[in-house]
Amino acid sequence: MKNVSEYFGVNVFNDKKMQERLPKATYKALKKTIESGEALDLSVANVVANAMKDWAVEMGCTHYTHWFQPMTGVTAEKHDSFISPNEDGEVMMEVSGKELLQGEPDASSFPSGGIRATFEARGYTTWDPTSPAFIRDKTLYIPTAFCSYTGQVLDKKTPLLRSMEKLNSEAVRILHLLGKTDVKRVTTTVGPEQEYFLIDKEMYDKRPDLIYTGRTLFGAMAPKGQELDDHYFGSIKSRVSAFMNDLDEELWKLGVYAKTKHNEVAPSQHELAPIFTTSNIATDHNELCMEVMKKTAEKHNLVCLLHEKPFAGVNGSGKHNNWSISTDTGENLLNPSKRPEDNLQFQLFLSAVVKAVDEYQDLLRITVASAGNDHRLGANEAPPAIISMYLGDDLGALVESIIKGKDYKSHKAARMETGVDALPDFKKDNSDRNRTSPFAFTGNKFEFRALGSSLNIACPNYMLNTMVAQQLGEFYNELKDSENLEESLKALIKKVLTEHQRIIFNGDNYSDEWVKEAENRGLCNYKSLPDAMEHYIDKKNIELFSENGIVTKEEMLARYEIELEQYSKLLNIEALTMIDMAKKDIAPAVISFVKEVSEAVALKQSISSKLSTYAEEELIKILSNGLEKFVKKTDELEKAVKNAGEHKDNLSLAKYYRNTVFNLMNELRELGDSMEENTNSKYWPYPSYGEILFGV
Ligand code: ADP
Ligand code: MG
Repeated sequence: MKNVSEYFGVNVFNDKKMQERLPKATYKALKKTIESGEALDLSVANVVANAMKDWAVEMGCTHYTHWFQPMTGVTAEKHDSFISPNEDGEVMMEVSGKELLQGEPDASSFPSGGIRATFEARGYTTWDPTSPAFIRDKTLYIPTAFCSYTGQVLDKKTPLLRSMEKLNSEAVRILHLLGKTDVKRVTTTVGPEQEYFLIDKEMYDKRPDLIYTGRTLFGAMAPKGQELDDHYFGSIKSRVSAFMNDLDEELWKLGVYAKTKHNEVAPSQHELAPIFTTSNIATDHNELCMEVMKKTAEKHNLVCLLHEKPFAGVNGSGKHNNWSISTDTGENLLNPSKRPEDNLQFQLFLSAVVKAVDEYQDLLRITVASAGNDHRLGANEAPPAIISMYLGDDLGALVESIIKGKDYKSHKAARMETGVDALPDFKKDNSDRNRTSPFAFTGNKFEFRALGSSLNIACPNYMLNTMVAQQLGEFYNELKDSENLEESLKALIKKVLTEHQRIIFNGDNYSDEWVKEAENRGLCNYKSLPDAMEHYIDKKNIELFSENGIVTKEEMLARYEIELEQYSKLLNIEALTMIDMAKKDIAPAVISFVKEVSEAVALKQSISSKLSTYAEEELIKILSNGLEKFVKKTDELEKAVKNAGEHKDNLSLAKYYRNTVFNLMNELRELGDSMEENTNSKYWPYPSYGEILFGV
């Protein structure tokens, strides 16, 4: 096997290859676009496109595709081959720069929330030069943004790119005001930690619920779950380890900085974390990572589950979005430095984040809302649905000292003494890692922990970037005419932290007291997607995005409809799958088993009327009563699904699915699971939780 450094990025048209293959002037022009965000000139684009094609053909590619991130929640691609016929009836590998850089996929089947009428099905994809093209399966993938004919945004990537620009301009402006005139550009960085489950393909194939919905809709808990905490960071089984090695290699070839891998809390659950990079590349890489995980699992006869809650009773999967802001001069703006008490620049950026998270806590909740994530938030495995911030002892004390105008004492110097001479004492991280907080300061970045595992991170990041940019803009306006900048800065920081201290919470986010306390503080607590989504189009939120030029009011209204509609559709699929399983598999299985037991009773009685049939009869009673309730509940669920048609608008439909259909599904599940516990496993139609979770 080759050295990683030899094959890292072989499948990416990265900076090194551009330098080698592009004329100097073209390379320079492209670099400028990438670094400054300026539009790419078409003549330059043509040269780049040709070089990209030549490289791809040399690498054995026959096709190219525009790769984009529509509102469906998965990435989309449409493959075209490079072949073009010539006069001799033969073919050449050819494609024009324009074709390569701009596509026109028939977009009528992508959700657009009514923005793009179906008759006018034209959507455009254009190359995002800030994210490099790459090769997978003999196809050149070109990362693109997706817009409608009239320029409206139809994807998740475009708002992210715009938000990064906005944050850049606001941050640079305020840094210049503070005297840092050497800073030309500010970028946001992200490192997403990705959780997933890995199960045996054979087990998966026997579960219609996993196949259709990505989660188990029935399934009694196995005798063993995660209570022993023996899986977390445990030694990795060889089959999983082979998968992980393959995954790393595949990702490295694609230029993804896959770094950390370990077992997670639940059995069969694992995590992969990359080294952070700029937000847009981190987004593309995270999407790639999820796709490569699924493909690599197939090769190992495994299935990678990215659903937020594949199994009830054990932890589900999330994603931690580590986020920070840094300058082109190499400074991390969220680094408190040695003396944060004197670092007004840091305090100002910290205040911007505090104010943003407080004022737009609803948006942060909304951006992580999904049918799958609804099972996790607030369920003692993930942060609650209430958004708050954790600053840690050090920063917490600093903020308090600013608010109260008192002296600040750092805890930071404390060193952890290992007590073992051979081990060096290490410096205690100045955040003591409150794992229950949805939005925690972790040393020199914030970790947004409420994301579901399958979420496209473009959304939380464009919201985060925009809301922080908004604050920086407001701060600039307050400071720009100041005669004594230092005094004005101090006063502003004190005012902001005082007004927004309610969002800071350092305690246990899982406790019931916090729910009450949060209510007293006036923080929002939206328990489900429909509850949260309703507020997406609140006036202040529409103003935030439209005034900062990220998405328009019309686009937001479209997004709102799409999210609600998709939620209802997903719950509808889940309900129909349950009904199908209940009627075609579970009820018949129980009937067959009861028949066998009844025959056993008859047989015993034919031998002697004195033989006890107590056990059999008890079992028959339990199962027959259970089955009656189960069949009636199935019927109730079926009727409820049929009645959904009465709800004409997407919000009331989504609420109906949540409050009626979803509750009936839970009740049906409980009845089904208790029959599973009493049925001979030979008869049960599906692999059990035990077999699935401990089967790899
Ligand atoms: P933990 O599991 O303790 O949260 P990990 O090491 O698994 O920590 O993940 C931390 C993540 O944060 C990594 O992806 C890392 O690259 C990322 N990270 C570190 N510094 C920054 C930064 N300045 N901006 C964004 N992400 C960062
Ligand atoms: Mg983490």
